[in-house]
Amino acid sequence: MYPPAVQLLISSQFDSGNIEVIDATDPADVQLRIRPDPPTSTPRGVVRFFQWFHFRVAGARGVPLTLRIMNAGEAAYPDAWEGYQAVASTDREHWLRVNTTYEDGVLTIEHTPQGDAIWFAYFAPFALDRHADLIGWCAESDFARLAPLGTTLDGRSLDRLVVGSGPAVAWIIARQHPGESMASWWMEGFLTRLLDPDDALAAKLRGLATLHIVPHMNPDGSFRGHLRTNAAGANLNREWATPSAERSPEVLLTREAMDETGVDVCLDVHGDEELPYNFIAGAEGIPGWTAAQARDLARFLDDYERSNPDFQQVHGYPIDPPGTANLTICTTQIAERFGCLSVTLEMPFKDNANRPDPDAGWSPERCRQLGASIIEPLVQAIA
Ligand code: ZN
Repeated sequence: MYPPAVQLLISSQFDSGNIEVIDATDPADVQLRIRPDPPTSTPRGVVRFFQWFHFRVAGARGVPLTLRIMNAGEAAYPDAWEGYQAVASTDREHWLRVNTTYEDGVLTIEHTPQGDAIWFAYFAPFALDRHADLIGWCAESDFARLAPLGTTLDGRSLDRLVVGSGPAVAWIIARQHPGESMASWWMEGFLTRLLDPDDALAAKLRGLATLHIVPHMNPDGSFRGHLRTNAAGANLNREWATPSAERSPEVLLTREAMDETGVDVCLDVHGDEELPYNFIAGAEGIPGWTAAQARDLARFLDDYERSNPDFQQVHGYPIDPPGTANLTICTTQIAERFGCLSVTLEMPFKDNANRPDPDAGWSPERCRQLGASIIEPLVQAIA
């Protein structure tokens, strides 16, 4: 008798799932595609972003799998696949890097699962259930108040937490780009420390400032498994000049609330597909850039590097020449609008090349640590 053929079942109909199966009959040559985001208008014309993937393979315990993502070469950042290792988990709690190669436009993942079910993803996912747990935990704290900004296009709450009672106003937002789940892990670390009754520096920050925190700017996009857009196909971080209720209510509601409170410090948390480093992009190219903004930015970068050496200043984006900034981006719009310190934090999908971890790469735990470490530079920026 022959042994029964392996029957794989690949699924992605769940929170932040994204994959399409072309052919899964042969475990040694499983052919897949990433489903693109809805069409988005950009200065380069209409594009459909994709790079995020997240799916489960059932029925492959002990079976060597070769999974080939056939459209990887048409992704938003094809160069980012170089040096990239996918993550996998059998318990959805611990995510480890697995053997991944990129050649001729195809991303190939080779792995032999140790369990009947295994999940693969672009980065450790952060489910909306976990976001709800985080909001619930914060909303029970004596130091936080839940003050939602409104609802998204799919009818989800756009949650804002208000923490502290000091005169300075800080806005900290994350997950404008839904495929950047590291931003949620960062938020979890940041909020856990900010609301810790035993942390003296967190208490000092809560006394110096009132912090408005939007942990998840794009819950619709993340649930739908998008890389960069919301339910209407809007790239939220290109909507800050002219947000609209029809297309980008998440940005409109946040910007209106910012206009009410004023802003002294703004931090927008992201992930970068290509660079294997943690870095910050400032707003140097805005028309109204001031010497005070330059001084505040330089100090903030130095303080963050001191508080957590996983952050660095050597590698990052090129700095915009004076007057050339794109004011549709949160960081530049807010820096121009309020004349304040306004920055974008980028974390890697790959790893921190200065302190690599071959097993986990840049990991949820290190995101959490980097989030907790923002307390020191924030205190210095406000004090
Ligand atoms: Zn981003």
